[in-house]
Amino acid sequence: MTSDKGLLIVLSGPSGVGKGTVRKAIFDHPDTDFKYSISMTTREKREGEVDGVDYFFKSKEEFEALIEQDKFIEYAQYVGNYYGTPVDYVDQTMASGHDVFLEIEVEGAKQVREKFPEALFIFLAPPDLTQLERRLVNRGTDSPEIIRHRIDEAKRELKLMNLYDYVVINDDVDNARQRVQCIVEASHMKRARV
Ligand code: 5GP
Repeated sequence: MTSDKGLLIVLSGPSGVGKGTVRKAIFDHPDTDFKYSISMTTREKREGEVDGVDYFFKSKEEFEALIEQDKFIEYAQYVGNYYGTPVDYVDQTMASGHDVFLEIEVEGAKQVREKFPEALFIFLAPPDLTQLERRLVNRGTDSPEIIRHRIDEAKRELKLMNLYDYVVINDDVDNARQRVQCIVEASHMKRARV
């Protein structure tokens, strides 16, 4: 029996592991036909980021008002800022039969697990912590203090990978992209089984 509802796909893992890069590779690929849920955040816009494309950038007050109105399927505070997944887009897109893809940190993924136990949870892991630190430094977007904070978070987050359906090692962006697409395809086949 096939489900008419779309699949909710959650890609999570420590900051700096390359979730954003893998996500972009997935959405640049012609075989991808799922929809990306753009998150809301209160963090400062980085150079080159576009409101409504990379994130919906909100003030703390706007974000907290939306929390009050129950407008998120999950939200978390990460390194001093709010990040959240708007509920309306996810509900409507899944109801129309499309798969929805979330790229979020681990606290938010835990909340999604409670609300949508049938969702597909994929953990993107770094080959090792030294590489993760190098990527954060090379990205050049954060101060040394923030980088230290992100590495501490990563150590805590790595312990959570056993709670996920799949772990994908990000040793190479295109390999990781392909593995995620294969996992999604396999999940569809499983759901379609009578
Ligand atoms: P960045 O500031 O580097 O864009 O993102 C910081 C962290 O927040 C990353 O791990 C990213 O995946 C995560 N993130 C982005 N959007 C969301 C969201 O909607 N909810 C949660 N919980 N985390 C998010």
